[in-house]
Amino acid sequence: MSRIVVLGAGVSGHTAAMHLKRMLGKHHEVTVVTPNSNWNWIPSNIWVGVGKMDKQQVTFPLAPIYRRKGIRYVQAKAVAIRPEGDVDDPTPAVDVVWTSPDRTGENERLRYDYLINATGPKLRFDATPGLGPDANSWSVCTADHATQTAAALEAVIDRLRNGERQTIVIGMGHGTCTCEGAAFEYVFNVDHVLRERGVRELATVVYLTNEHELGDFGVGGMTFQRHGVTTTSEQWMGSLFRERGIEVILQAHVTEVLPNAVEYDTIDGQHGRQEFDFAMLLPPFKGVGLEAFDRDGRSITEDLFAPSGFLKVDADYTVKPFEQWSAADWPSTYQSPAYSNLFGIGIAFAPPHAISRPYATPSGVAVAPAPPRTGMPSGVQGRAVAETIARRIERGDPSAPARTASMASMGAACIASIGTGMRRGEAATITMSPIVPDLERHPDGGRDPAATFGEVGLAGHWMKRLLHTMFIYKAKARPGWWLIPE
Ligand SMILES: Cc1cc2nc3c(=O)[nH]c(=O)nc-3n(C[C@H](O)[C@H](O)[C@H](O)COP(=O)(O)OP(=O)(O)OC[C@H]3O[C@@H](n4cnc5c(N)ncnc54)[C@H](O)[C@@H]3O)c2cc1C
Repeated sequence: MSRIVVLGAGVSGHTAAMHLKRMLGKHHEVTVVTPNSNWNWIPSNIWVGVGKMDKQQVTFPLAPIYRRKGIRYVQAKAVAIRPEGDVDDPTPAVDVVWTSPDRTGENERLRYDYLINATGPKLRFDATPGLGPDANSWSVCTADHATQTAAALEAVIDRLRNGERQTIVIGMGHGTCTCEGAAFEYVFNVDHVLRERGVRELATVVYLTNEHELGDFGVGGMTFQRHGVTTTSEQWMGSLFRERGIEVILQAHVTEVLPNAVEYDTIDGQHGRQEFDFAMLLPPFKGVGLEAFDRDGRSITEDLFAPSGFLKVDADYTVKPFEQWSAADWPSTYQSPAYSNLFGIGIAFAPPHAISRPYATPSGVAVAPAPPRTGMPSGVQGRAVAETIARRIERGDPSAPARTASMASMGAACIASIGTGMRRGEAATITMSPIVPDLERHPDGGRDPAATFGEVGLAGHWMKRLLHTMFIYKAKARPGWWLIPE
């Protein structure tokens, strides 16, 4: 019997665990280690954050699903990986600290044959003074954050109703943030709700971002060709922001969030201050702080993990200038170069570099969106790694070829909500292929023009709403769940 341990029950880890169990059946043990008791469909936190859904609609308990599927569920936080085991036993192991109410604080060492690190991000609210829901700004990164944020937004709406002017700032709380798409969705959903409630006129809505231009989204922007006309994502987004009267601050690194103002520096050397009554600012991400030790207990954390705390996989991590970045730098198997039974997927793997061209302020502070690892690639990586492991176990060959799923060859579809409602909702549907531009295959901009396009409309909202239902159905392992693509 092989033992596979999956760290993290988010989009990538949950997908990997469910496929592994489906493929391997009851003769092998699949264990999921995760500190949370609930699964969260994070994309719909945007709608929780504007009061259009509640926490129960975007989360569900993991325990019954894992019980039904025969997956061992360890409600715990992984703290250290021991890929060579320890002095008593050379079997690889992972150290966990239980978080379930009945065992909180208990330590356990779990042995494994294969380990998948799918621990996602640590939300670095500490990277900017005053950032985050424990300080001066709101967040929609978790369902609980989004619930608090919706209540704060409701208070803003009440003040607007009473005739008070309000300034709302939404965006990125640091120069190295990722997930610009989520901030974009939130600012447009807030705009939509304010219009719906008839209070938009008294509100100033500002989008503050580290992107070099609108529509960058951390993927270097996109060029669309439709009916012989070339449009950039910058032009497209620019018109959407202008239409809605949303003000924009670009190329900004937030230096501090005060109780009612954001201080920021821009790449042209300016220092700005934007007052607000309500701010939702996303934090930058880093790895969750796993450590690693060799058999003798010596730290190998720096060998296994990048300085960002994300797991190094089969990428080319050579530091090189933007002009030399290549599609080939991106990983395809997500296997650790140091240990062939260790994998990193979703946000937990270390990207080789950004996708967008990085900039800095004159004093050298990075204003450089980190590469997004959105739901679709995270799920696809989860499934690919599950297939690799299942194949190796079934063939009894730990070096059987790995399945590949490089972000430089896969396309992605993103549906960015710009307002909810079955009749008045809208979404910007963006497809791009590949996610990471490949200038060798597509010398004109790095992407396939026939597979890269954007469209705004009500149908996009219906699709986004349908995806919510479909992905929750899939994550609950309802009949035929595996037929739903990642
Ligand atoms: C507000 C918001 C909106 C978004 N909207 C979209 C969207 O519309 N479309 C889209 O494609 N993507 C969207 N994304 C991105 C999407 O949520 C991520 O791509 C996806 O969640 C990444 O999956 P993951 O498995 O890597 O990480 P996660 O889903 O974050 O899962 C990480 C898991 O690891 C667990 N974990 C953490 N620490 C440990 C530890 N020490 N030990 C064990 N487990 C641990 C966590 O509890 C969690 O279960 C959005 C993100 C945000 C924040």
